[in-house]
Amino acid sequence: WAKADGKSRWTLFDPERNAHRMTRQALVSTLRPAIERGEFALEYQPLVNMEDGRLRGVEALVRWNHPQFGVLTPNRFIGLAEEDGSIVPLGRWVLATACRQARRWQVDHPDEPPIFVSVNVAVRQVWDSDLVADVAGVLAETGLAPHLLQLELTESAVMGSAGRPLQALQALSETGVRIAIDDFGTGYSNLAYLSRLPVSVLKLDGSFVRGFQYDGAGVAPNPADEVVVEAMIQLAHRLGLTVTAECVETSAQASRLRQIGCDTGQGWLYSRPVPPDRISGLLGLRACPQG
Ligand code: C2E
Ligand code: MG
Ligand code: MG
Ligand code: MG
Repeated sequence: WAKADGKSRWTLFDPERNAHRMTRQALVSTLRPAIERGEFALEYQPLVNMEDGRLRGVEALVRWNHPQFGVLTPNRFIGLAEEDGSIVPLGRWVLATACRQARRWQVDHPDEPPIFVSVNVAVRQVWDSDLVADVAGVLAETGLAPHLLQLELTESAVMGSAGRPLQALQALSETGVRIAIDDFGTGYSNLAYLSRLPVSVLKLDGSFVRGFQYDGAGVAPNPADEVVVEAMIQLAHRLGLTVTAECVETSAQASRLRQIGCDTGQGWLYSRPVPPDRISGLLGLRACPQG
């Protein structure tokens, strides 16, 4: 089948579309065995205190070293893993690996203040698995202190979270594990609601920081973006939350964010996501290198 006028790109045998579907199927069918084969790896990205520039923690970000397709970033497979449920065993592996690594840094660098590890948690891990038991088990097994673990959930995972998710959040925060809201500002949640949940960190979505672009004179093209972010930070602080900005790429963005009270920064300015040994190299430093 093809459109008679020849303009349609979508014929039945569109090779590009077919290749895409085949890749997708190949990925879905190999997700579970890939966990057992050890094809996943974590990189870690620094979370930097904006006041003193010191490394406070790292976010664990999963990669798939695929034998056929090379290194795949999570946007290629996390959605698929959520659809077919393999996010549950994958998420368990991520949690255990990240906590083991955080404990390792602590043991290897006993003279440095310990850093926390922040782990992304998918909605299905809250609904379809016993996240509370998994977390307790991993902390017991690794010996990592609960306050050195932060879990990142999206707004959609906690919004309207009566019942199971709310109970899970409550139980987790009672153990001392910190809950962060990832990509904050892209969903529909409001701060007043979030502040009633056991949440202690807001991670401002990168799209807000991207608005902090400056011309040569250091003037933002759209000052309204900054007003909104500043107001969100003030409100978050008054509600007892701390704020992390994602996607901090320039020192101009960092200094403006610091001025308006942002607590923690994450982004290429400080470091891209890196293998664990690179984090070891940052542990003794007074301040995270920039740029
Ligand atoms: P996220 O949790 O919002 O993680 C931040 C993403 O922004 C990462 O992409 C990181 O590499 C990227 N990033 C960091 N700094 C900058 C910057 O300065 N500029 C720009 N343009 N990007 C920056 P990545 O690693 O590709 O991960 C994408 C998403 O995949 C994550 O977004 C998270 O939602 C999901 N993800 C990653 N690892 C896991 C995991 O273990 N479990 C689950 N459920 N989701 C994960
Ligand atoms: Mg995240
Ligand atoms: Mg994020
Ligand atoms: Mg994001």
